[in-house]
This record gives sequence, C-alpha cells and structure tokens, in this order.
Amino acid sequence: MLSEKMLDALNEQVKHELDSAYIYLSMSAYCEAQNLPGFAHWMLLQAQEEQEHAMRFFRFINERGGRVILQALEQPPSEFESPTDVFAKTLEHEQFITGRINHLYALALEEQDFASQTFLHWFIDEQVEEEATAAEILDTLKMVGGHPHSVLMLDRQLAQRSEE
Ligand code: MG
Repeated sequence: MLSEKMLDALNEQVKHELDSAYIYLSMSAYCEAQNLPGFAHWMLLQAQEEQEHAMRFFRFINERGGRVILQALEQPPSEFESPTDVFAKTLEHEQFITGRINHLYALALEEQDFASQTFLHWFIDEQVEEEATAAEILDTLKMVGGHPHSVLMLDRQLAQRSEE
C-alpha cells in the first residue's frame, strides 16, 4: 500500500510525463512546419516514449492499490527559434524531469517504500540516457552553428530513429 504522500507524488509524475509527451509532440509539429521531417519523426517517437513512461507510473499506482487521479496538462510552447533551441529546451526539460525523479526517490527512502525505490531505479537510469542523448544532439547543432547543409544531414540521421 502506498502512503498518501507517495501516492500524490506518483500521480504528480504521471502529469509530468504526459506534459513531456505534449511538449515533444508540439516540438514535432514545429519541426514538421520547418520542413525537417527527421527532427519531427525523432520528436514524435520521443513523445510516444513519454506516454509509455506515464503508463508505467499509471500501472504501478494501480498495482500498489492506489487511485490514479489525472491532472490538467500544461499548454506546451508552440514556437521555437531554431532546431538548436528545440534541443536546448529538450535538455532543460529532461534535467527538470531528472530532478522530479530524484525527488520521488528521496521520498521513497523517507517513507521506507522499498517497492517504489525498486520501481524508480529504471527511471533513474533512463534519465541518464535521456540527458545524454539530448546533450549530444544539442552539441552537434551548436557545432554546426545552424548551417543549413549540416542541419539537413542531421535531419536525415534523426529520421533513422526507430522505436525501442
Ligand atoms: Mg520521461
């Protein structure tokens, strides 16, 4: 059984994961409008992955006998300055999510909720991956300085992303 504190925090995280999906879906729409189908595809898969993260929390809350209460989502930004700006905001957002996962883990320790600790291990590892991937793409974009030819090359590379 989940403590009330833990349940509230996990429900909050369902919202954060769905907010993430919404942000990446909005970024995908922006990239599509910029004629960058590879970036748009990458962001669409990213959005799907975030929905799956939300569902992991959803199922875990149910399994532990908690009640899932869905919250209102934030309106995501729809305008970005450039693909570099998109990935700078992606990295910033993933750093925020890492902070939320760490907060959940600290709470699980405080509450001596061992099942939640084990459940959160996957997310701790996942956040290392998420930040590294966003940072890598951002570094590439910064390096090429928005040069159209290089951005198109990267677009082709991002088009190769497949569902994990
Ligand atoms: Mg996530």
